[in-house]
Amino acid sequence: MQTRFSEAQLADPDTAESNRILRACVHCGFCTATCPTYVLLGDELDSPRGRIYLMKELLEQGARPTAETVKHIDRCLSCLSCMTTCPSGVHYQHLVDHGRQYIEENYRRPFMQRAVRALLAAVIPYPGRFRLAVAGAILARPFARLAPKALRPLLAMAPRGVAGPSPVDRPQVFPAEGPRRMRMALLAGCAQQVVGPQINEATVRLLTRLGCEVTIARGAGCCGALVHHIGRTGQSHDQARANIAAWMHEIDGPGLDAIVANASGCGTQLKDYGFMFREDAAWAARAARVSALAKDVSEVLAGLGVTPAGAAPALRVAYHAACSLQHGQKIRTEPKALLSSAGYAVVEPAEGHLCCGSAGTYNLLQPELATRLRDRKVANLEATKPDVIATGNIGCMTQLAAGTGVSVVHTVELLDWATGGPKPAALR
Ligand code: SF4
Ligand code: SF4
Repeated sequence: MQTRFSEAQLADPDTAESNRILRACVHCGFCTATCPTYVLLGDELDSPRGRIYLMKELLEQGARPTAETVKHIDRCLSCLSCMTTCPSGVHYQHLVDHGRQYIEENYRRPFMQRAVRALLAAVIPYPGRFRLAVAGAILARPFARLAPKALRPLLAMAPRGVAGPSPVDRPQVFPAEGPRRMRMALLAGCAQQVVGPQINEATVRLLTRLGCEVTIARGAGCCGALVHHIGRTGQSHDQARANIAAWMHEIDGPGLDAIVANASGCGTQLKDYGFMFREDAAWAARAARVSALAKDVSEVLAGLGVTPAGAAPALRVAYHAACSLQHGQKIRTEPKALLSSAGYAVVEPAEGHLCCGSAGTYNLLQPELATRLRDRKVANLEATKPDVIATGNIGCMTQLAAGTGVSVVHTVELLDWATGGPKPAALR
């Protein structure tokens, strides 16, 4: 694609990077067929190619974004299916991140949109605040019809109940069982601690059982992905810096073989820290070091090997590939191989490449499209006649569970159960 940025524009490293990305696109349109929003809406401007064109215009002209342009960029899930499909290696992720940041800095959204986005950014990354908000949403749900329209999806998505903080999520060290094979930091995360505390508990049990010392580093928190995807780059960088500082303390102290994420959306973000800070002399080297150590839990487990403790529970498991895992991190085979080696019968749904509509805060900000994608995904999953659905991302778990009667669990919960841990709560 031809671009016409001025020398002055190209002096900005983000614009220079976007220019490189734009120039790699050859307009072939292969990506349109695998884009969930194009599949649903059939509008070129809701396809990757259309959005790439909109972002080129936006960035080149340096103009105020129009409401129409913002609508089409907002509808993008950042699922990165287009990156898997693109034969020219167009790095859509970094382009849309830049586009979202540009919109955030140059476009004044209607009041309710600004209020909801500010609320999400101020609450979800902080487990204490989020726990209180969920409790409030549970109380307010019977009166949801009286709430402003923009707030209703937030009330509808709140879980049925909320548990207190899990002791696992406090800063501490869990010793390895038997001889120590590896030492790793686990990203305890933010929203997952509130809506799925059993996931970190299962992860710690499983990793320590396999000979890993696991630390929850003091000072680490939200990975920054949630606010990053709504264009709040400053806030996401602050959250990333806090994590980098916390883990560097571990790296320079007792040492780390890996930094493990068990929410694939977070893992994708950790692996991008090196890029995020590439121009920051004070942080670039440390960020790159953290990114190099970042692993999805399934990558680590694949290296360790999982052997069932006895006869595996005879369950048919439908594996839902989270976009951030299959497209963002290119991890496709490991979770299925691990489930199979633990003794489960693994089945896969049709249209496995399509997003379930969760996509961070997408299901809260774009509820209509998100629900259509969820229902389509659930129909494909249920067609495999599963006993249980497994996936590697808390966002997908919450999204799918709201649309099906089949139990939805994290992959590590099933692996933990097969190797001697308790039966997952969702199956009890
Ligand atoms: S990230 Fe997903 S929704 Fe966005 S353009 Fe690419 S395929 Fe479409
Ligand atoms: S597949 Fe790649 S090169 Fe082709 S239009 Fe899409 S982004 Fe551009």
